[in-house]
Amino acid sequence: PAKVIDGKLVAKQVREEIAVEVARMKDAIGVVPGLAVILVGSRKDSQTYVRNKKKACEAVGIQSFEVNLPEDSSEEEVIKHIASFNSDPSVHGILVQLPLPRHMNDENILNAVGIEKDVDGFHPLNIGRLAMQGRDPFFVPCTPKGCMELLHRSGVEIKGKRAVVIGRSNIVGMPAALLLQKANATVSIVHSQTKNPEEITRQADIVIAAVGVANLVRGNWIKPGAAIIDVGINPVDDPESPRGYRLVGDVCYEEASKVAGAITPVPGGVGPMTIAMLLANTLESAKRIHNFN
Ligand code: NAD
Repeated sequence: PAKVIDGKLVAKQVREEIAVEVARMKDAIGVVPGLAVILVGSRKDSQTYVRNKKKACEAVGIQSFEVNLPEDSSEEEVIKHIASFNSDPSVHGILVQLPLPRHMNDENILNAVGIEKDVDGFHPLNIGRLAMQGRDPFFVPCTPKGCMELLHRSGVEIKGKRAVVIGRSNIVGMPAALLLQKANATVSIVHSQTKNPEEITRQADIVIAAVGVANLVRGNWIKPGAAIIDVGINPVDDPESPRGYRLVGDVCYEEASKVAGAITPVPGGVGPMTIAMLLANTLESAKRIHNFN
């Protein structure tokens, strides 16, 4: 049976390491890393995400700044706040919580974040640098960064291996594929128009699934011994659960865990890593801005 990659445990280790570094930096140069979060509108799920990010910051000693703007704000108002955080020396990371209200153009807003404070890694210049040989982005998007961290910390070799990423979204699949390629894997991307996805996936030593379809990847898609990182978070009906549903991944865990060499569970795999990587990016930013190693 596959080794279970415990994302909750790894995320806890990462947060502890960050707390140590934050304290060391404060002691040495008196700088506290700061993260600014901008939330537009009053979506309940976004409010929860923002609250969790704030709590996670506090727990490791990172200072957090929050701006809540009404749903009917203009793009200019949002950009004005971004600009003021861009020039605020106590802010090292700026995050605009997505999705934005429909009347706003995401691109205009994400472009306004200074690339050296773009801790979400969504600025087109950061994505472009990620895609280029011999260049590095200032920041790597948090969820795919978390996937890579899980592979590294589980001792999975990447160099020269075949990797398949299922899904090509801007926030997960595409940057995950670029990261695997930078780590010297040979990468294929399987997406909604791919023919024979199971055949392609079966060649992979490493699979990252980021689709949003419950249990899409079956046991017979998987090469024996492969490492499986399951990003999907999908609710499925479950009358036995008090909430009436439970969360499953894009990979059929029961089948895959019999074939794979290592696998992340859902929940408790990639999920907890995302916020840990946001904290890591914020610390990294403060260190870079203040030239502290
Ligand atoms: P998305 O909807 O933006 O992208 C899905 C991708 O899957 C698309 O590129 C599409 O081409 C591809 N796809 C759709 N159907 C397919 C099929 N049948 N076969 C192969 N590819 C197919 O989704 P996303 O934002 O990338 O998120 C994917 C999943 O990951 C979701 O379940 C989401 O909830 C989860 N997620 C988790 C985290 C986290 O753990 N922190 C973060 C982001 C997303």
